[in-house]
Amino acid sequence: MAHPSDSSAGSARASAGNRLDPWYSSYADRSLGMRASEVRSLFAVANRPEVVSLAGGMPNIEGLPLDFLAEMTARLLRDRGPKLLQYGGGQGEEEIRTQIVEVMRYDGIHAHPDDVIVTTGSQQALDLMTQIFINPGDAIVAEAPSYVGALGVFRAYQAEVIHTPMDDHGLIPSALEETLRRAEALGKQVKFLYTVPNFHNPAGVTLSLERRPQVVEICRRHGVIILEDNPYGLLGFDSEPLPALQTFDPDAVVYLGSFSKIFAPGYRVGWALAPHAVTQRMVLAAESAILSPNMMGQLSIAEYLKSYDWFQQVKEYRSMYRERRDAMLESLAEYLPSSTWTVPDGGFYTWVTLPEGLDAHAMLPRAVTHRVAYVSGTAFFANGEGRDYMRLSYCYPTPENIREGVRRLGTVVEAEKEL
Ligand code: PMP
Repeated sequence: MAHPSDSSAGSARASAGNRLDPWYSSYADRSLGMRASEVRSLFAVANRPEVVSLAGGMPNIEGLPLDFLAEMTARLLRDRGPKLLQYGGGQGEEEIRTQIVEVMRYDGIHAHPDDVIVTTGSQQALDLMTQIFINPGDAIVAEAPSYVGALGVFRAYQAEVIHTPMDDHGLIPSALEETLRRAEALGKQVKFLYTVPNFHNPAGVTLSLERRPQVVEICRRHGVIILEDNPYGLLGFDSEPLPALQTFDPDAVVYLGSFSKIFAPGYRVGWALAPHAVTQRMVLAAESAILSPNMMGQLSIAEYLKSYDWFQQVKEYRSMYRERRDAMLESLAEYLPSSTWTVPDGGFYTWVTLPEGLDAHAMLPRAVTHRVAYVSGTAFFANGEGRDYMRLSYCYPTPENIREGVRRLGTVVEAEKEL
């Protein structure tokens, strides 16, 4: 049998790649663009007990009613075990799709369960959407900065990401118009706009009510469907959610939701609501990827929504994260006076602009030596930009640890300014 790196094309590639991996020349091109996310590769250091991690976006689920969930799960298995432990339909169970329709009412959405697909977290919905819309080289317009996990999916499908700027009120409609116009002039095929309108990851900002219909109208006019990713929408600190982009044009928006942040990520249940034909295409793609979504997860969440005051739990999350957000903002004012940052009204993150000339990527090892971790802004751009920014998460550490972490970060930034 020929060794996989024996062919001449293969050996050229092997010499450019990893010589220790004999299969390198066999990999598909799409796999060569895959990289460990900066966030994931940080996990090992950031999780050391002496390090205050302001890096990860893990929800804090300490307040969940574990006794209730234990009893509920036992009851479900006893009463409906054969269903819970069996394969299901590729679109997900109707019982949870009906409840998802109710959850989306908080965003002003009126939908039919037939247009909803249950996914393995909203992350899988990002994958399905990209799989069904993107040919290699197609363009996706995404905010600058963008969710690192979406950029990873886009890269895997060999999309070109074109960033479009935001300010404190989210996407800037005139800049979006300009971005689309420029892309068209260059002959690029823009397939969709990817946006996180509420409590943006990583920027912490929310798209204003006034801009929402404008963004939808611009995309509609340019023939570009919108991928609206909304895992944090119910976690607002001060007010009820703004209407989803989907409500302005249900035929031109694919809306993604998730139970990861409003309940628990371990069940791995999210969803997409799409125009009917798009949903059906996503179902076909999902069936070939996973056959059917996690039955235990779906039916457990359906039962939780039915038999627990789940919205009270959401309110508890809101007040916990609000207290942490306050600790973060107060500490930034005290310890990072020469930086600026966004003021999130919900969600998990603030986006910090470092003083002129500082490089968040280069500074990170020194921060870890000072026992504090963050994510460098570079993780959130497809083009290597973002060195003057960092994302700080306040979701997981206690308020005391947030203060201590930001204090340590302040020491690092001050020392860096003198280098
Ligand atoms: N989108 C955004 C903006 C996120 O922040 C996350 C999780 N960090 C996801 C999607 C994926 O979440 P999940 O797959 O757990 O639903």
